[in-house]
Amino acid sequence: MKTYDILTIGGGPAGITIAKILGRQKKVGVIRPEDHSMVYCAMPYVLEDLIPIEKTLKRDELITDSGADLIRATVTDVSFEKNTITLNDGSICKYEHLIIATGATPMIPPISGTDLKGVYTFKTENDLKLIMSAIKEKRIKQAVVVGAGAIGIELAQALNSVVEECHLVEMAGSVLPNLIDEDVSRDVQDEMENLGISLHLKNKVTHIEGRDRVDRIILSQGADISFGDDEGLVVFATGMKANTDLFEDTELRLGNHGIVINNKMETNIDDVYAVGDCVQFESGITHEITLGKLATNAVPMARILAHNILGDDRTYEGYYNGAATKVGSLFIGGTGLTEEAAKNRFNVVVGYSELTTTFPIMPGAKHIKMKLIADKKTLRVIGGQIVSGSTVTDKIDIITLAIQNGLTTWNLTNFSYSAQPYQSFFPASNPIVACAERIIAKLKVEMANLKPDECVVSEFTN
Ligand SMILES: Cc1cc2nc3c(=O)[nH]c(=O)nc-3n(C[C@H](O)[C@H](O)[C@H](O)COP(=O)(O)OP(=O)(O)OC[C@H]3O[C@@H](n4cnc5c(N)ncnc54)[C@H](O)[C@@H]3O)c2cc1C
Repeated sequence: MKTYDILTIGGGPAGITIAKILGRQKKVGVIRPEDHSMVYCAMPYVLEDLIPIEKTLKRDELITDSGADLIRATVTDVSFEKNTITLNDGSICKYEHLIIATGATPMIPPISGTDLKGVYTFKTENDLKLIMSAIKEKRIKQAVVVGAGAIGIELAQALNSVVEECHLVEMAGSVLPNLIDEDVSRDVQDEMENLGISLHLKNKVTHIEGRDRVDRIILSQGADISFGDDEGLVVFATGMKANTDLFEDTELRLGNHGIVINNKMETNIDDVYAVGDCVQFESGITHEITLGKLATNAVPMARILAHNILGDDRTYEGYYNGAATKVGSLFIGGTGLTEEAAKNRFNVVVGYSELTTTFPIMPGAKHIKMKLIADKKTLRVIGGQIVSGSTVTDKIDIITLAIQNGLTTWNLTNFSYSAQPYQSFFPASNPIVACAERIIAKLKVEMANLKPDECVVSEFTN
């Protein structure tokens, strides 16, 4: 029986991070069934034929170069009493510390017809290959993507470029509902329609019809999408469910969204930890359990845990969910709470700005629109959204840093920024500062109309 200091179930971004940090100092084993770990984020661009699939397959050396063992297998059983795991070939490994990093699997809503041929999900190398070969061999003419989150809209664009007709169905009233508000989404929706994608907002797929293959997709508002004599495909991008089946009848504590952990990634069982998409965790803003199945959450969790195993005393603050996507020529990003989500818990105030991404006199200047969301009572920044003709992640990350550190709108009016003709607007303004100033100006107007004891903005004197 092989014995490890650290045994990690799962070789995705979380498992790889564990191996990279601990592999040289501990005896580490990483268990992964797939031939390759993948750059999942790039899968839509393979489908779109922008990059070959080989470029998205991660090298095993990311794990083995650190000295860690890569064990190609599936864990079929865990004994927390004996500190052992059983693999699908029957062999058993013993561990001192067990790290669960089993990720998440796409969810399909419980409706009839999802077992028909032509219905897919989009997470693994296998999912990608199945969709690619269906398009190639069956000459698919129409594609339907269900769910307009970042994965759904990237997938819809990719399919739109390789089939004749592409539909995107979303139950919310706008695209990217967890990332940006409806007002910010309008440009994105226009861009999608310009690309030729048919949007079906405020619609659920109620069921799917067909004899053997999918033939008709029925929507809640009464419309249907029919494939007629041609073959079509339907891909569900309706969210992810933590991979916890292995632990269903064990003493490991599970919540509705995954394995329950504390801010040191410890589970309820000694020497058993969990990180990444397989856990449930709280928002760093509201401290309530929230969605956050992102690689940019999985990796920091794994990094904190690995350093703690080496003796640090780090804690994970929670999800802020800074994320970005791209539609046509638009780059879109969001962080923290949307105004819609924040309204349930805060008295919200928002500010907008519109500038150019470079000095407007420079060639190639693009438009940037920003929305900043703050709590009216404390003026604490709680969210931000951007739609721009140029990359947005740098600015989204600045807003996340402000949220993480409890900065207020006043703090952002004092934000000290840089400017250069090719890289920013004139020194006269900055989109983050402009949003913060708009919020302050709005509140000044509101306050002028209030009696002093009606003023909720306790910190409004700078
Ligand atoms: C199309 C797409 C685009 C995305 N884009 C982005 C993006 O732009 N930005 C971003 O931050 N995130 C993005 N994500 C999300 C990101 O990929 C995940 O959050 C991330 O992969 C989670 O990492 P993980 O290591 O926790 O889990 P995973 O990457 O899911 O890895 C889990 C591993 O555990 C293994 N495993 C499960 N059960 C067992 C078992 N019983 N035995 C052995 N091994 C097991 C799995 O096979 C897998 O190797 C995207 C995801 C998809 C699908």
